[in-house]
Amino acid sequence: MPLDPPRDPLYYPARRHLLFSNDSSIAHLQRRLRVGHQHAIALREALRGDAVEYRAETDSWQIHPQADRHTDFLLEEKLAQAARLIQHATALVIVAGAGMGIDSGLPDLQDNNGFWQAYPALGKQRRQLESIASPQALKQRPATAWGFYGHRLNLYRATTPHAGFGLLQRWGQRMPQGCFVFTNNVDGQFQKAGFPSARIYECHGSIHRLQCTAHCSGELWPTAGLRPQVDEAAVQLQSELPRCPRCGALARPNILMFDDWHWNQARSDRQRALLDRWLDKTPAPLVLEIGARCAIASLRHFTKRMQQRGSPLIRITLHEANIHNPDDIEITLGAKDTLEGIQLHLNG
Ligand SMILES: [Zn+2]
Repeated sequence: MPLDPPRDPLYYPARRHLLFSNDSSIAHLQRRLRVGHQHAIALREALRGDAVEYRAETDSWQIHPQADRHTDFLLEEKLAQAARLIQHATALVIVAGAGMGIDSGLPDLQDNNGFWQAYPALGKQRRQLESIASPQALKQRPATAWGFYGHRLNLYRATTPHAGFGLLQRWGQRMPQGCFVFTNNVDGQFQKAGFPSARIYECHGSIHRLQCTAHCSGELWPTAGLRPQVDEAAVQLQSELPRCPRCGALARPNILMFDDWHWNQARSDRQRALLDRWLDKTPAPLVLEIGARCAIASLRHFTKRMQQRGSPLIRITLHEANIHNPDDIEITLGAKDTLEGIQLHLNG
């Protein structure tokens, strides 16, 4: 952060636009910031050494190769802007990925490092998440696969959703059309935080439901009675493998796994239908996307579709957020910190 904030209020927007577009031309600055020629020249001059460089030998301006693209100079302004959007919104869709759960103390399983940190025994074997969380693994190594899922079930049951969940709920309740949650998390934390289940779409299913691996019926049943005992160090289920109450075949979590052709998506589809019906009456709700990585296409596609329908977007993500689109509010910060930061502006 520079010690002296530059006096021109367009300094940081100009910086953001230059770095985002990789275009250092005056015409570009004029167009994006809607300023005159002289103002654009002054801005570029001010950004010299920070975001752009002048090369005398070629008489050209270039983007500074070492420009820090990862510092959110506009954080407070963005938090205030986000608070204003929330204040004026009539409806809210929360699009939540793994980043939402991490602040409740849940491990980040989205890459091998996080996965191996959470399950050192599997790290020692260099086992990938894909090789545990799959129908194939359930078939070949059921005690290990259920060691993993049993541990996760116990962990999610023991986890208290962080304060950000409560803030989201409060904001949504104040809006005339309320809010809806779209998440790929299977941990059930939104239900636990008190969001009504009729307003949650879990696009990858839920760990709190089971299905039969033999597909004897299309039924799902709750895990309520299941108390998995897991040797955590070895990631092995020690209690009995859960069974289908109808046919006795191995039961599995109703979660979309890797290479999974047998996931029973009936419940998830019903939730989706509820979301679509709500969206019919609520054409362009404010979208608050939290902790959803680019790799999670289902979430990002949904957000994009909502933007095309005219929804404003607040994107909160610790990773991959920087300067994707200067017209959105992108906040590079953890979920809980951001939500609490926005709340401060709502109080003020
Ligand atoms: Zn069965």
